[in-house]
Amino acid sequence: MKAIPDSLERLVQALSKLPGVGRKTALRHALHLARFKDALAEDLAVALQDMRRDLRLCSCCHAISEAELCPICQDPSRDQRVLCVVEGYPELLAFEETGVFKGRYHVLHGLLSPVRGIGPAQLNLDGLAARCKAQGIQEVVVATSLTSDGETTALFIRKILEGSGVQVSRPASGMPFGAAIEFMDGETLAKAMDNRRNMG
Ligand SMILES: [Zn+2]
Repeated sequence: MKAIPDSLERLVQALSKLPGVGRKTALRHALHLARFKDALAEDLAVALQDMRRDLRLCSCCHAISEAELCPICQDPSRDQRVLCVVEGYPELLAFEETGVFKGRYHVLHGLLSPVRGIGPAQLNLDGLAARCKAQGIQEVVVATSLTSDGETTALFIRKILEGSGVQVSRPASGMPFGAAIEFMDGETLAKAMDNRRNMG
């Protein structure tokens, strides 16, 4: 007979699928949640259900949103002519925290990776050129990380926008090669965005 009840085991297995959570940590969290008269488990269950029900992708930029259009796409004070292409939602939040970028975003949900077999069809890349045309975009800032996948993605974007009249730029100054945008400090990000360079 197994020592651990089935329902607890299922919770442990679900929690251990979270990034950075091993079985030991999952078990510790599960036991904490299983404590009687503890409202945390119920709050968590409701929050998870609400999230599943209410969250979707913004139909314009693919950021995580509760409405058809996210707050940034709905904001008329944002610069409508500049788009910042980011690999994911955490990177969008990192740039928003700096307050230095006043345009709107285009969230890819990944990077091109020939090694891992990730092509344009798996990312939110297909619609980028059409969006630029439809919305009269003048500049696209490709703010992908300075990794080989980030560079591959930036070069691909420059290629698909070639001849479209859209200026394609890349944040530059102070960004070390291999640095993930998500983990860079705000000051470095703000400086890199301010000193962005035309990719030609
Ligand atoms: Zn949006």
